[in-house]
Amino acid sequence: MTSDPWLEAHAYLRPVADLCAEVDREAAGIDVLDARIPDWEDYRADFLAGVPLLTSADAGVDLEPGGRMAGALLERLAAGTPPGPLAAEAGALDADLRRAPQVSRRIADFLLGDETVAPIFPGLLRYLAWTAMARFLRPVVSAFDGWRDEERWLRRYCPTCGSLPAMAQLVGVEPGRRRLLSCGCCGTRWQFKRTGCPFCDTDAQRIASVTLEGEPGLRIDHCESCRGYLKTYNGEGHERLWLADWSSLHLDLIAHDRGLKRLAASLYDFEPAGRDHDHS
Ligand SMILES: [Zn+2]
Ligand SMILES: [Zn+2]
Repeated sequence: MTSDPWLEAHAYLRPVADLCAEVDREAAGIDVLDARIPDWEDYRADFLAGVPLLTSADAGVDLEPGGRMAGALLERLAAGTPPGPLAAEAGALDADLRRAPQVSRRIADFLLGDETVAPIFPGLLRYLAWTAMARFLRPVVSAFDGWRDEERWLRRYCPTCGSLPAMAQLVGVEPGRRRLLSCGCCGTRWQFKRTGCPFCDTDAQRIASVTLEGEPGLRIDHCESCRGYLKTYNGEGHERLWLADWSSLHLDLIAHDRGLKRLAASLYDFEPAGRDHDHS
């Protein structure tokens, strides 16, 4: 399924879909800089100890070129035609970041949680910079997928960047059916226990699922202990659309109405461009 029939059935997703499409289009126009693939043996001890790849000094993945790509994306969006709220906010972010030296290094540090980098639109920067950084990291993530022994990770946070999952996916057929968690930031998917909550590590008995009429591919798994929920794509082949998080924002509303809490990481918690800041 491409996004078109999906959007016909869910017209309220159109604004966020258009925003994502615009950002993806500009990101696709940026030169992808080379990322060095780490020497996996150098990283093995940190991996076994649960240290995500990008925060491991021994792995030594340099994110600065990805930060440069993010800076280039901001510039392209700021120069966007026609000028609109996204162009204005990207331009303001760009100008704000340039007030201090080493812009690309600071963007990279910000993505890994450095709170001394305090941009004016942190949510928007996280979204835009991860969009560029994920492109930079693609060969690293792919090589890491090939090297990683999934059974030795099984943790609730991303083995590459350390973020909590944005979504989950059920793949394969019984008896070998597996649950993957999906990182909304760097794009890594990794294996997790089939049942059990990734937010509080509770046991399987306290997990319940909500399925939606007319949407057999998606469901909401929620935990009765911590009230956290995780949107789950129950299938394979349409990852690009159904693991995109924005494509199932209506599930977040349903979960919210049921009193559940979004504990999953999201790149979409910024105020949409052009809206004022009231939450009523
Ligand atoms: Zn990640
Ligand atoms: Zn829980």
